[in-house]
Amino acid sequence: MTAPERIPLLVAQLPDTDALLPYLRQIDTNRWYTNFGPLVTQLEQRFAATFAPALSAPKAITATSGTAGLELVLGALELPQGSNVLLPALTFVATATAVIRAGYRPLIADVDTSTWLLTPETAREYAAHYPVAAVMPVATFGNPQDVEAWDAFTADTGIPVVIDAAGAFGNQRVGQRSHVVFSLHATKALAAGEGGLVVTYDQELAARVRRLSNFGIDLERGSQVFVAGENGKLSEYHAAVAHAALDQWPVVVERRRAVQARYQHLLREHCPDLRLQRRAENGIYPILVGRLPRGLRARDLQPELLSRGIETRQWYCPTLDRHPAFAAFAAGPLPVAHELAERLIGLPFFIDISEAQMQRVGSAMGELTRGVHA
Ligand SMILES: *Cc1c(COP(=O)(O)O)cnc(C)c1O
Repeated sequence: MTAPERIPLLVAQLPDTDALLPYLRQIDTNRWYTNFGPLVTQLEQRFAATFAPALSAPKAITATSGTAGLELVLGALELPQGSNVLLPALTFVATATAVIRAGYRPLIADVDTSTWLLTPETAREYAAHYPVAAVMPVATFGNPQDVEAWDAFTADTGIPVVIDAAGAFGNQRVGQRSHVVFSLHATKALAAGEGGLVVTYDQELAARVRRLSNFGIDLERGSQVFVAGENGKLSEYHAAVAHAALDQWPVVVERRRAVQARYQHLLREHCPDLRLQRRAENGIYPILVGRLPRGLRARDLQPELLSRGIETRQWYCPTLDRHPAFAAFAAGPLPVAHELAERLIGLPFFIDISEAQMQRVGSAMGELTRGVHA
């Protein structure tokens, strides 16, 4: 018997050479390669316009990566060193590394059972018991955060909110008060290889983010450095890829939505005991994660699936508090996040996954979860 054809977990899709050429030719003509060149400037305007029409558009500032974007906004908040920043246990490690590198302390919170998000309600509870200087909720697996609720949280408590929406471009809106950070990493829905984007309505914060991304050089005050920054500038080459990705965005959106809808239908049909994240059906998601019925652990199923040629991943497992670098930062017990981390399984999901591949994943999951009850 031959081994079954392998279904990869993820296949990135970036603009091809032909799509890049018009932008690369502009770079040839401009001979401007980084330091806020014309492609970066236009890209920021294009991004800002995707959130609102020109007159009411927020500021969009590019960065070298989503992680750099997070560090820059956190730095621009200018909180006292060592301040607590509340964040969810169930997230990518960069959410926590950004806090530490900005000079603050992560305060690791639990997440909601059905949306798998850190919610404003939970943040209010933590803020009542701990000194919380800022909150960094995550748009987990592309599921957007409720910006109106977070704006209300900031209005009530005075605590600033930075949404780590790294994988949620296309889904996550920007609040009047809440700042949002996206990633343009190759694996995200809108990809430029590497890159990040900070979006905010706070003009002064935007100016501080920009300055910090340029080593902290204050161009309005004799090019002196008053607060040390970093090199967080996006190059013109990465901007070229991001432009081409934006050109293709409408097609990508349609395709991702179609895959998402079909997959969701197949999974519900084949394995009704697999719980999906509570999130909008018409969202644009970079990955697909299911929660196994109680009694099944992702790590026990993975070899079975792999023997059927199906690659899977335990995204965000272990939770932040179980990484040695962050072990000291848990704010009390984290039962929901710990339980989810054991039972969440990332399934193959990419833009050109075929009907046959989705069917194979659905029936294998059905076979392996049937009879085990949630
Ligand atoms: C991908 C991701 C990041 C990191 O973004 P980079 O652009 O790779 O630095 C941060 N947070 C979350 C939740 C992510 O999914």
